[in-house]
Amino acid sequence: MLVTIDENSGFCWGVVRTIEIAEQTIEQNKNSEIYILGEIIHNPKEVQRLEQKGLKTIFHNDLSKLNQEKAKVIIRAHGEPPSTYKMAQDLGLEIIDATCPLVTALQNRVRKFYSEGYQIVIFGKPHHPEVIGLRGVCNDECIVIQTEQEALEKVDFTRKTLFLSQTTMDKHLFNKIKETLETKVKELHAFDNYREQLVVKDTLCRAVTGREEHLRKFAMENDVVIFVAGRNSSNGKSLFKICSETNPKSYFIEEIEEINPEWFNNVQKVGITGATSTPRWYMEEVKLAIEKITK
Ligand code: SF4
Repeated sequence: MLVTIDENSGFCWGVVRTIEIAEQTIEQNKNSEIYILGEIIHNPKEVQRLEQKGLKTIFHNDLSKLNQEKAKVIIRAHGEPPSTYKMAQDLGLEIIDATCPLVTALQNRVRKFYSEGYQIVIFGKPHHPEVIGLRGVCNDECIVIQTEQEALEKVDFTRKTLFLSQTTMDKHLFNKIKETLETKVKELHAFDNYREQLVVKDTLCRAVTGREEHLRKFAMENDVVIFVAGRNSSNGKSLFKICSETNPKSYFIEEIEEINPEWFNNVQKVGITGATSTPRWYMEEVKLAIEKITK
């Protein structure tokens, strides 16, 4: 029986980078207290692994309790609004910025267009940490939408507008909203002017948007698919749905102990995949466990 791990699964490079920064910081600062502001990743196993190395997860209201002599506070890949940096500075805390460079570029873009007087329209979840950061760079003077209906109700079509997206939103829906906005702007403004009136930036992250198509192919190529993710991972739920729609013999597990040996009866090819929050090292352990069970 052949057991393979999906090459495209696991953490995106932005999260890998943040984890590397956290590990280096711990390694190089043995006498300091190293904190991460918010969970580094929505995966209990990876959080636990880094906690064992010395990384402590804190939240905004913990900042004022830290020892400024010893504390170093890491900003995770999603980024933070300017108010967080200001608060840390006022408290005399050292910040280590591990914001994903793509998120920083997105923040800079919002800052630029906001300063030029554009109406900022963000396709995203209003309380997602990345969107909170984006809202912060434009003093919360923006519109956050999730549907075409909201776009029509909330956008002021008389204003010059920048439309962009949280990096991990659905590409199909982004394009639909974009078309809705363009149609409306074309109705109200001279056709030649509409591109000045509405600036659209596709800021979806290619590290995640390409995964669905690949996942369908991977699920089809294998007789059985073992999908590994935390039960609370929303990305895990939606990617597993794609897997099980493509291959009904797809099984969701969080722990190795959940593997049922009967799943592998008369099976030639087993594929292991997971969410963007599933650590590679745990998928390797799942692979070893399956190989042991089926030997
Ligand atoms: S922008 Fe892309 S690469 Fe960066 S953290 Fe988000 S998903 Fe990962």
